[in-house]
Amino acid sequence: MKPFTGNFTQQEALDDTVIAAATEILRSGRLHRYNSGPGELSKASELEQAYAAYQGARFCLACASGGYAMAIALRAAGLSQGEPVLTNGFTLAPVPGAVAAAGGKPVLVEITDNLVIDLDDLERKAKTSGARFLLLSNMRGHLADMESLVDIVRHHNLILIEDCAHTMGAAWNGVKSGNFGLAGCFSTQTYKHLNSGEGGLLTSNDPEFMARAIILSGSYMLYERHGAAPSADVFERIRLETPNMSGRMDNLRASILLPQLARLEDSIERWNERYRAVEEALGGVVGVVLPQRPDEERYVGSSIQFRLPGISPEKAEAFVAANKAMGVELKWFGAADPVAFTSNHHSWHYVDPQPLVETDSILSGLFDMRLPLTFSVEDCRHIGLIIAHCAADLAADARGEA
Ligand SMILES: *Cc1c(COP(=O)(O)O)cnc(C)c1O
Repeated sequence: MKPFTGNFTQQEALDDTVIAAATEILRSGRLHRYNSGPGELSKASELEQAYAAYQGARFCLACASGGYAMAIALRAAGLSQGEPVLTNGFTLAPVPGAVAAAGGKPVLVEITDNLVIDLDDLERKAKTSGARFLLLSNMRGHLADMESLVDIVRHHNLILIEDCAHTMGAAWNGVKSGNFGLAGCFSTQTYKHLNSGEGGLLTSNDPEFMARAIILSGSYMLYERHGAAPSADVFERIRLETPNMSGRMDNLRASILLPQLARLEDSIERWNERYRAVEEALGGVVGVVLPQRPDEERYVGSSIQFRLPGISPEKAEAFVAANKAMGVELKWFGAADPVAFTSNHHSWHYVDPQPLVETDSILSGLFDMRLPLTFSVEDCRHIGLIIAHCAADLAADARGEA
């Protein structure tokens, strides 16, 4: 088999409509979101309106990053210092990081074989921790059974904030991810579904929550210039008691996100074609377990995960190396030390250590790969066949064949 020669971190170039939008802002010199004339809607505000409409949310705030959106969401929701916050035991470091930044203490919840939060463990820890908040991470784009999750949230009076970094555009039974609780947090960092280098979007239907979030983001009392914000009287109540924690989005980033948002649905179809090509190549390969994607879930296949249950750390490293030798870059979540984007809960030393037996067992055999849109569907088939080939070698090895 020929090695694959594509680049796993190369996203698509931004096209001429994006370049024209950026050029217009650069020529104007008015990059700050509040540098607008009377009655003029800044690009940041325009993006807030467009994203609120796409999401089907009343309010939207454009801000500095996905991690920042989560941290101010927790604050705006009323988290006090030292309060416990339930969150997934398997997620990316900005999630426990956001809890820590907001002064909370992460209570880690186990995940299931399908990489979503374990609802039984959630229920147990909702009872025992006394937490008022759940920062749910839809890690790598996998959605839990959202109806059952919302039942637990209601039953335990939890405030639900969703981390939708990988579920922008995804839905459960037709309801968009991010619309199940108080707020949805999105990222427009280069490796997510819209690319402005860095950036975040926070959505909600709750006026007072959003007013607090806008002031937290550093509105300099210019909140009336926001694109999808509650009315001024809501701000009156909270404007002087809410600190400024500057983390605004600028007009340059907003301007390059607007044309990309208009094409998001098309990008989702393209990601999913690529996802299905790899999934098909891996289906039926001995030892490889793919996460089940329930019918209720509309996913965005911007990355793919699979498990080799029971694999030893030595074999896992050898498997990653064998794929790498064929040009396929896999991430392994079982490594003792964080590598690039693959940290696991043992390396979050600012979080009280918590035993997560199920999660550890799943992560020890969990592999992950990005599917940038610069790959063709044919490339994805090729990649899938390389992984299948390396997995077959591993199985033959285990049977003692040469
Ligand atoms: C990328 C990511 C975030 C936050 O992204 P930022 O880099 O802070 O914009 C949050 N959660 C998950 C699961 C992510 O992958």
